[in-house]
Amino acid sequence: MKSLKRHHGQGKRIVLFIALIGTLVALCAGFIGAYSWSTQQQIQADQQALAVLTKQVEQRIAEIEAKKVEPVYLTLPGADTIEVRREDYTNPDSLWVLVNKQNSVSLEYVPEKLVLPGVPVSASDRLVSEVIEKPLIDMFAAAEADGHGLMVGSAYRSSSYQASLFNGYVASAGLEQASRYSARPGHSEHQLGLAIDISSASQQCFLQACFTSTPDGQWLAGHAHTYGFTLRYPEGKEAITGYNFEPWHYRYVGPELATALYQSGLTLEEAWSSIEVARQTLIKNRAPELVLDATNRR
Ligand SMILES: [Zn+2]
Repeated sequence: MKSLKRHHGQGKRIVLFIALIGTLVALCAGFIGAYSWSTQQQIQADQQALAVLTKQVEQRIAEIEAKKVEPVYLTLPGADTIEVRREDYTNPDSLWVLVNKQNSVSLEYVPEKLVLPGVPVSASDRLVSEVIEKPLIDMFAAAEADGHGLMVGSAYRSSSYQASLFNGYVASAGLEQASRYSARPGHSEHQLGLAIDISSASQQCFLQACFTSTPDGQWLAGHAHTYGFTLRYPEGKEAITGYNFEPWHYRYVGPELATALYQSGLTLEEAWSSIEVARQTLIKNRAPELVLDATNRR
């Protein structure tokens, strides 16, 4: 009986022991389960946050890329809005480069390709930048169709040729007078190959203010802009351009800007601050055409 009681007491302890082990195991399992569940939650939250961040970065990259190619516009007072050229206007190869008494081009600068245009010229060395050959031919053909025979009187001039011209004028007329109709070397648009002095084939009023009253001069004044040429030294703007009225001197800037200048009545000098704003916008937008160009400044 005693031994039976003892056996019974031992059995109870074993049961209790097993129950205790079971409880401990259950507690551990519960703890591990809870721990792994919260870790899983944390990983999921991190993954969601990462996905949000990745999306934001992708959106920002897309915005930057879109800005690079975004069109930039220019509206001169009284003129239609135009899209600006995607180039650095401080580069002498730009069609919008400003060369005047204050802004020079390197004496070594020569346009990439000079050609003898297929239009009447006053001498066989009247070369122009290849860029303006077709617009020039088109303009002369349109003038011809309207009964106006035109001729290129002067075109590309190297800086050394400009120097000899300018020095000659200074010697004969004095510096002050010469500066009103002739440019110092490095300050002439003719060095760009984008400027031409146009006259009647008859040479009536050749390089004289009276050219403005001739039928040919009037035709040019009313039509040149549609072919991309702007009258650079208009009457009444002498204080701005620094040059006497030259109804024969036209500069190629492309039809868009030439038309905007024509409509607004502004010279390139007067439009320059607006053009510079457009250039700064292109730089801010990281337009690749200007970023690449930055190494090639004059
Ligand atoms: Zn000229």
